[in-house]
Amino acid sequence: MIKKLPHPSTTLITAGRESRLNHGIVNPPVYHASTILHPTVESLEKKTLPYSYGRRGTPTTTALQEAIAEIEGGYRTLLAPSGLSAVTTALLAHLDHGDHLLMVDSVYGPTRSFCEGILRRFGIEVDYYDPLIGADISQLFKSNTKVVFTESPGSLTFEVQDIPAIAKAAHARNIIVMLDNTWATPLFFRAFDHGVDICIEAATKYFCGHSDVMMGSITCTPATYEKTLAGHGTLGMSVAPDDVYLLLRGMRTMGVRLKQHMETGLRLANWLKAQPEVARVLHPALESDPGYALWKRDFTGASGLFSILLKPCAHEAMSAMLDHLEYFGMGYSWGGFESLIVPQYPKSVRSATKWQEEGYLLRIHAGLEDVSDLIADLDAGLARLRAYG
Ligand SMILES: *Cc1c(COP(=O)(O)O)cnc(C)c1O
Repeated sequence: MIKKLPHPSTTLITAGRESRLNHGIVNPPVYHASTILHPTVESLEKKTLPYSYGRRGTPTTTALQEAIAEIEGGYRTLLAPSGLSAVTTALLAHLDHGDHLLMVDSVYGPTRSFCEGILRRFGIEVDYYDPLIGADISQLFKSNTKVVFTESPGSLTFEVQDIPAIAKAAHARNIIVMLDNTWATPLFFRAFDHGVDICIEAATKYFCGHSDVMMGSITCTPATYEKTLAGHGTLGMSVAPDDVYLLLRGMRTMGVRLKQHMETGLRLANWLKAQPEVARVLHPALESDPGYALWKRDFTGASGLFSILLKPCAHEAMSAMLDHLEYFGMGYSWGGFESLIVPQYPKSVRSATKWQEEGYLLRIHAGLEDVSDLIADLDAGLARLRAYG
């Protein structure tokens, strides 16, 4: 009988734990280390110990790396001190002077800033492409194209990309496909089953889940691992053991948390869609969304992050709505237990496509509060917006 592969929600609980090696204690110990002592010259010079130096890892970091690799269904995982550093490390590890990078136009803003501010300076060509391009990405390939970077759905505006079509075109030309999978997590999008070569997560968001740790992960296929490892090591990427511990702790409940984020997010999205002040809801799991068909084909769930487009209104009216919300905090990042709302301005972070909407775009993170309280809060906010006139 072939053993059934566990559901990813089960792997979330079992992965990266070796209680037998740790007195039966459920969670791994926190090793604080820089120096690791070697007993002999031979051991020192031939690196015979499993660990050689704190920066390069300890049993604590191994526990999290193995856990994420298993949950992603990838080969191996490397950790970085933030989601952004995971993105920049993966790109720097694989791009050389003179290479060409294709970057999705709806990418996370700071990823774009890295391309503009650092990669261009180092002589790497960057072209942005329409997130809806699909197989036509091949028309943008040049002889020096090395990496296609994807993020699906897109930051702020939630366009769903046809990752399998992009991966097929890229692989025909030996081009590496990277994905920022932060929105869906491996629970709702199986990157490696859809042709991705390197899957990046801002673990700061849902993996952590408690708004208190910065972390990023880079998970590779066997073919992309060695080069990524070399770049990661050379760049000096290292994460703190207490953060790793908190990350592992938060991650265990990601399955139940995400189900709730999804349900509450959809309830809010549907309620908001019916409000007269709302022009459009940008949420790929709504049937009315242009990305719905691809989302339905490729994803197994939706997280709690989406946007709404308000009908054009005064800045003061939008502020009146947001300034006095009781449960929705205003602040960056997302994926924690609490609800958030922030105005966002995609116009300034697009170049291959245009964002021409006039109204304010509000990005919402549906937290774990009861949905009835969240709806009442938004209802009162929209009443303040209306009252402004
Ligand atoms: C937040 C975010 C990042 C960056 O993560 P940090 O841990 O904040 O550096 C990268 N990609 C996406 C899609 C994000 O939302």
